[in-house]
Amino acid sequence: HIYLDNAATTPIAPEVIETMTTQMTQDFGNASSTHFFGRQAHTVLDTSRHILAQSINAKDNDIILTSGATESNNMVILQTAQKRANEGKRIITTAIEHHSVLKPMAYLESQGFDVVYLPVNAQGVIELADLKAALTPETILVTIMMGNNEIGSHMPIHEIGQLVHESNAWFHTDATQAYGLLDIDVQEDQIDMLSVSAHKINGPKQIGFLYVNEAIHLPSFLMGGEQEKKRRAGTENIPAVAGFAKAIELLTPAVKAEHRARYAGFKQQVLEILQANGIDFEVNGAGSDDMVGHVLNMWVKGVSTYVLQMNLDLAGFAISGGSACTAGDLEPSHVLIAMYGEDSPRVAESIRISFGVETTEADVTAFCAALTKIVQKNLAKQAGKA
Ligand code: PMP
Repeated sequence: HIYLDNAATTPIAPEVIETMTTQMTQDFGNASSTHFFGRQAHTVLDTSRHILAQSINAKDNDIILTSGATESNNMVILQTAQKRANEGKRIITTAIEHHSVLKPMAYLESQGFDVVYLPVNAQGVIELADLKAALTPETILVTIMMGNNEIGSHMPIHEIGQLVHESNAWFHTDATQAYGLLDIDVQEDQIDMLSVSAHKINGPKQIGFLYVNEAIHLPSFLMGGEQEKKRRAGTENIPAVAGFAKAIELLTPAVKAEHRARYAGFKQQVLEILQANGIDFEVNGAGSDDMVGHVLNMWVKGVSTYVLQMNLDLAGFAISGGSACTAGDLEPSHVLIAMYGEDSPRVAESIRISFGVETTEADVTAFCAALTKIVQKNLAKQAGKA
């Protein structure tokens, strides 16, 4: 089986497994204990937190460990709403955010908040003019993802940071998909809060962080112990945190640049092979030269997402019909709908493939051959019936 679904999750790097195994077997202490075992665990926590913070040019104290981007996103949205409701009830986001943003937004709407969903263009990017027009003195939060998980579009974060900071609003970005490929600097880009998940970068699942600028004091989401400087209760998962830090250490700027180049090469390879094979397809979000490079979303004309995904699975290729979280219930992609409209055939005939550190040129070639066969067979079948 060949795995081409790295936007859903990634395999854990061997170095990360080694680090985590050491932590689980040797340093099992509770980081809040004052004895030797506790101090040892706390040292690992501090060292790891420093690596997390450095990776986005933040201060160690501004990193809150969470169970992943879902919790980070939920916390930002719900706790900002709670904290700032007396200053204003307007929140701005986009139509193509992950459901861990969109669902808390729907909840806040039910509680009387005014949520603005900025539209995106055919490249899956917002227009800055729309953001500018939407910002009011009552806007308390702007949350716009850095890179999209379904099509890989990359939002103009630097410009957004500048615009938002001309207002009273706080600026949060969900960097879950972009983090592994882009160099992020929260100070340069005026990002107040930022979400990341370890399992998208060859780290373990259910661990992530939320960066919160020191000027912002969000009420704790989980109540209990005084961990994370009273910002997130619960005994820290030291093996997972250490594994997360190891995964980040492996991702030097040079490695990220190398991955970007490799994935761009894979994309080109897919396009060339499918074109040469006479497959009628279009890249969703095409035209943007600034994509978060591991994701390739394609409209394969005339064959349904379901048929493509199922037959690719049978042929040994793991891809996705959209985001993994919604693919299970075969709901149409809210991202493609936002980009192309509900009636576009793209909504029902698109697939997402996403590359990772283990992807090879041979994988890509084999995938293209399998896809070609499936498309030709199904189009022939339809022609036979017609
Ligand atoms: N945001 C984005 C953009 C994502 O791609 C994901 C994972 N699909 C999440 C948030 C949620 O991450 P997790 O499931 O690790 O909490």
